[in-house]
Amino acid sequence: MSTTSEKLQDGRGLQIVSPKPDHTFELDEKALVALLDSPDIRNRSVILVSVAGAFRKGKSFLLDFFLRYLHHTYVLNLKDGDWLGAEDEPLQGFSWRGGSERHTTGLLLWSQPFKATLENGEEVAIFLMDTQGTFDSQSTVRDNATVFALSTMISSVIIYNISQNIEEDDLQHLQLFTDYGRVALEKTEGKPFQHLQFLVRDWSVPYEYPYGAEGGQRLLEKRLEVNENQHEELKTLRREIKSFFAKLSCFLLPHPGMKVATSREFNGKLSDIDAEFKKQLKDLVPMLLAPENLKPKVMSGEMLKAKELFHYIKAYMEVFNG
Ligand code: GDP
Ligand code: MG
Repeated sequence: MSTTSEKLQDGRGLQIVSPKPDHTFELDEKALVALLDSPDIRNRSVILVSVAGAFRKGKSFLLDFFLRYLHHTYVLNLKDGDWLGAEDEPLQGFSWRGGSERHTTGLLLWSQPFKATLENGEEVAIFLMDTQGTFDSQSTVRDNATVFALSTMISSVIIYNISQNIEEDDLQHLQLFTDYGRVALEKTEGKPFQHLQFLVRDWSVPYEYPYGAEGGQRLLEKRLEVNENQHEELKTLRREIKSFFAKLSCFLLPHPGMKVATSREFNGKLSDIDAEFKKQLKDLVPMLLAPENLKPKVMSGEMLKAKELFHYIKAYMEVFNG
């Protein structure tokens, strides 16, 4: 029997890690076990795609498009390119919204894992994770570092969602947070992080670096370049980031249009989103989630099974809370 609901609207974001007032974090073990240890999921290899970065930069909005693609491809089993949906359909899934009030901090996993079989026959479960509140003013640096580090450690792909450009601060945050994770990994079983995907939102100079993956790769190479004239600190920062991750890539997304950014009535419907944004989404999402592009999470040299992921999360949380 399949426990994966066939309807997208039945799913929800399950808060598995929440902050406590004393700045430690609480793990919802019951919810996590129910998700990872269910009979049709537990023996599958894990694909965990997470989105991290500052508050109110369109992370949850993006994840809802990921959900549409996953539903279309792995639940409805459709191979056509029409996953983006109807023009007037409101966007559903992880809660995203306008306004500047703060949402809960922590990690949320989508309650429906998507089941897929890779070209080599490997059976996998795809999990989507939303991270909230990172870098906002009410969280301490340590809270941010914990949320970001934990998502980096357990993800097969972590998407670093940033606004307008790759700035020096974005790289510094990344170094700080991944360094924090590396320390925790040393206390458990040390392995490098897998794939870091920079995602630049509202990219506004496509004539310098075009939208998409190629322009992104060129921008990233430029930003991570180490040269003679740089200060020693800048060189170290760049060398460290390159050494932390097995794969680094970058994608440049255009601005989605004024209705998305500013309208109170905007409900996520496609007809209100700029054409160029939709065009780029159609490249970005399959690049990360199409069957031929899925890479399972590896821990200690082995593909991680869903049932084992729970123990890793628990062990990491103990290190962070210790
Ligand atoms: P999150 O806090 O990062 O998860 O941000 P949300 O997904 O909740 O989105 C916050 C606001 O930004 C919403 O009003 C969205 O309509 C809007 N938004 C979504 N994507 C983009 C984008 O690419 N650029 C801009 N400027 N706004 C966006
Ligand atoms: Mg959000």
